[in-house]
Amino acid sequence: MDKEVKFIFVTGGVISSLGKGLTAAALGTLLENRGLNIALQKFDPYLNVDPGTMSPFQHGEVYVLNDGAETDLDLGHYERFTKTKLTRFNNLTSGQVYQAVLDKERRGDYLGKTVQVIPHVTDEIKDRIRALAEESQADVIITEIGGTTGDIEGLPFLEAIREFALEVGPRNAAFVHVTYVPYINAAGELKTKPTQQSVAKLREIGVAPNILVCRCEKPINKELRQKMSLFCNVPFEAVIEEKDVDHSIYEAPLMLQRERMDDLVCEHFNLQVPQANMGHWQEVIRKLIAPQHQVRIGVVGKYIGLNDAYKSVYESVIHGGIANDCGVEIDKVDAEDIERDGPEKHLNGLSGILVPGGFGERGIEGKIDAVRFARERAVPYLGLCLGMQVVTIEFARNVLGLEGAHSIEFEPECKHPVIALMDEQCDVTLKGGTMRLGAQACQLAVESMAAKLYGAFTVSERHRHRFEFNNNYRDQFQAAGLIIAGTTTDSKLVEIVELKDHPFFIACQFHPEFQSKPNECHPLFRGFIGACCHKFLHKRPL
Ligand code: GLN
Repeated sequence: MDKEVKFIFVTGGVISSLGKGLTAAALGTLLENRGLNIALQKFDPYLNVDPGTMSPFQHGEVYVLNDGAETDLDLGHYERFTKTKLTRFNNLTSGQVYQAVLDKERRGDYLGKTVQVIPHVTDEIKDRIRALAEESQADVIITEIGGTTGDIEGLPFLEAIREFALEVGPRNAAFVHVTYVPYINAAGELKTKPTQQSVAKLREIGVAPNILVCRCEKPINKELRQKMSLFCNVPFEAVIEEKDVDHSIYEAPLMLQRERMDDLVCEHFNLQVPQANMGHWQEVIRKLIAPQHQVRIGVVGKYIGLNDAYKSVYESVIHGGIANDCGVEIDKVDAEDIERDGPEKHLNGLSGILVPGGFGERGIEGKIDAVRFARERAVPYLGLCLGMQVVTIEFARNVLGLEGAHSIEFEPECKHPVIALMDEQCDVTLKGGTMRLGAQACQLAVESMAAKLYGAFTVSERHRHRFEFNNNYRDQFQAAGLIIAGTTTDSKLVEIVELKDHPFFIACQFHPEFQSKPNECHPLFRGFIGACCHKFLHKRPL
């Protein structure tokens, strides 16, 4: 490394789901707005090679990058909050580390040595930090360590960052520990003991935090800050309060700026950079807090109980709201409830309906019913991936009259396989990393609503699916009014479908939710929410 790169390591204590990723991303926003070049990476201590094979109930959403990497959802925060470009090298799991170490061992690279966690596993981890510094040429690298301090599986990562900090020197490395300060109702008090113990655990490993970010429901007073400063060996001003946000996660950077977290980091690293101008970010918050319009969007899925399962979808819908100066209330509808009660009970009165991606048969008929409801009642509809496949099935069954139309994912021997496998996918047996993945070019039809919204005829969108629109039925669909609004550049695969004579009905085979930002909303979400608050109705190109 030629220049003096600065490294920030973000660890978490007490409990999981504290929003470490959000804190890392928000700090990234602030540093970027001070003119620094930043790069973010996430280390995940689990043994899966990537989260692609994990259930959303276990892990939340799988976030897909341009290069097709299936990664942790925190990378979604990184992309939404900053300009950083992410690739598969920005997310490292224990599974990948051990796979790399074992490959080297089999090749004989260790020259007869006993292969051990220290130094071989830790070296592999440190190499990844250096590789990102090299490749990104960033001024500051922010590395988030997943899991909670004290987890056995996280130890090699903590040991690696301890060694790394020693190697680059204390002025080039900073440790940020995100901790939880619970409010105990019965005592009417915030409690600092869990934080003290978590920091003690970290210091035992040799990692002494420079900044303590305290997640809390109530404000932390001076006395508590002094107490944590004393017991955790952190300067008073480096005890940062990060209270639950009032309105939106996009308040986090402003909150950390008020607490001077970016100043602390710059002072620690002796970086002479101007203050962050967060005016555009404040504007985002203003639109979120006091919007002109209001809509209620139904998201019909099967992982409705877990917020993280459709993280990027929910965020993109909110971005659509920001772009239209419109407040968005999200009604999470379990597709199985529609199957049980019929669509009216759950979908009446909604301004728009969205069916996101998904795998497996459970709830599929409920999603198909939701599509029919949106199509027949002229309710704005946006379908994402599986949300396009259910459009195809619904249209086949109820408009084309093809009884028994289905996807072969759910009924391999169905009479009309309107969603089928591409030839390349037929022989695939391994589950990990074998879908159609990552960014691919999509050609838009000239007269399509999609082209109007994008303002372009070729766009790049990210994929994560195995099954495709079956071209054998293409002519039949088009003759009956389904518009093929987007295809791959060779026209072979259908990427977007639209409906004629409908205020807004777009479904895509890709995942636009992976390319939307609070101040740069994805065109399809902008159009969808716009239609939901009746803005774009008159612009429909028919
Ligand atoms: N299960 C479908 C497929 O594999 C859709 C996947 C998705 O929605 N991400 O093609």
